[in-house]
Amino acid sequence: MNILVLNCGSSSLKFQIVETDLDLIDKNADVQKAKGLIERIGSQSLVALQAAGKPPVKQATPLRDHRAALDYVVRWMISTEAGIPGIQSLADVHAVGHRVVHGAEKFTKSVLIDDDVIKGIEDCIDLAPLHNPANLKGIYAARTLLGPGVPQVAIFDTSFHSTMPETSYLYAIPYQLYRRHKIRRYGFHGTSHRYVAYRFRQLAGREREETNIITLHLGNGCSACAIKAGASFDTSMGFTPLEGLVMGTRGGDLDPSILEFLAHKEGMSMSEIDGLLNKQSGLLGLSGLTNDMRELLDEEREHQDRRSKLAVDVFCQRVRKYIGAYLAELGYVEAIVFTGGIGENSAVIRERICAGLEFLGIEIDTPVNAHMVGGREGEISKAGCKLKVFVIPTNEELLIARDTVRCVKNAPRRW
Ligand code: AMP
Repeated sequence: MNILVLNCGSSSLKFQIVETDLDLIDKNADVQKAKGLIERIGSQSLVALQAAGKPPVKQATPLRDHRAALDYVVRWMISTEAGIPGIQSLADVHAVGHRVVHGAEKFTKSVLIDDDVIKGIEDCIDLAPLHNPANLKGIYAARTLLGPGVPQVAIFDTSFHSTMPETSYLYAIPYQLYRRHKIRRYGFHGTSHRYVAYRFRQLAGREREETNIITLHLGNGCSACAIKAGASFDTSMGFTPLEGLVMGTRGGDLDPSILEFLAHKEGMSMSEIDGLLNKQSGLLGLSGLTNDMRELLDEEREHQDRRSKLAVDVFCQRVRKYIGAYLAELGYVEAIVFTGGIGENSAVIRERICAGLEFLGIEIDTPVNAHMVGGREGEISKAGCKLKVFVIPTNEELLIARDTVRCVKNAPRRW
């Protein structure tokens, strides 16, 4: 089946076309046929499209909304200019898989979209006011353009974490607030943590129940996940993606009293404070320069910039703090797995995070670590060390495509 994987943001649309099916999943023989990104929807949009094995096509064109953007993608996909094998008409798109950010407690696994599911996703808007409406725009657009005959599936960022026990997901605030408003920790990046846990099992030859690992998704957004017997036991993002690790522009954990203090001292409104914590904090806030880890490392190396070094040091220490916490929560951990733009590409950051953890049995193999970048996958710790360290590039789109096939064919999910 050709699956169109869609990830819609408030003014962006990211897509892939993946050919997969139950037998291809078994053989690990899925094929990524095309990918692309449209940004700045609503004004002069930037379009980047690429069929597998061909050079990327970039252009700027006005696209008024998500429907116009998807229409553009679909027209390109079936064009001779794109030349995607097996895709000549709309009938060659067999199903659509949507990344949906928030499924709250309602959606604990991927589901075939019908009117009830759409209503359920709408009901979660309160919890993800920026993300779920954008995801819904993608769903409405795909329905209109491809017709009701093409099945659509929702894959939720939160659902992998639905296995967290109450002790992990409850905040220690009056319990009736959880009952009344469902204020609790949900966790995000679930599809990424689930994918790397699945790949780890394949690489290490483990059964699901034997998989006790800590996964670290370090990109512009960052989260850690404690995986016990193959299921999420705890994760660092909480009610929103703001909690936990230091990220590109989000500060992660902080004392909530700072909010009132800021309102008082700086005369800021709650929405201004929310903007400050989400968009002006983290690596950007600490360095005063950039949210981009590569640029910070360059500044530190080439200009010995003190604040860039400080931002990177705080980032690494926070990750170490979570590793320590999750080791204590899980008891036994076989491996730590790095993924995400930073986790997959920065040998320096991986080395800095692991520095000083030798007492836990972690020893990084420096030459192997240096080589494990740019999409490479494997172990970076020295052979035989007690706590292994892996790099596994994430592939959320693949998991979305596979879940889509399984939901359409009503086949059980095995991992
Ligand atoms: P993502 O959100 O997963 O795309 O990750 C984006 C982050 O990965 C940005 O902070 C990038 O600077 C960072 N990144 C990508 N490549 C490298 C690299 N080679 N070294 C350090 N950071 C990198």
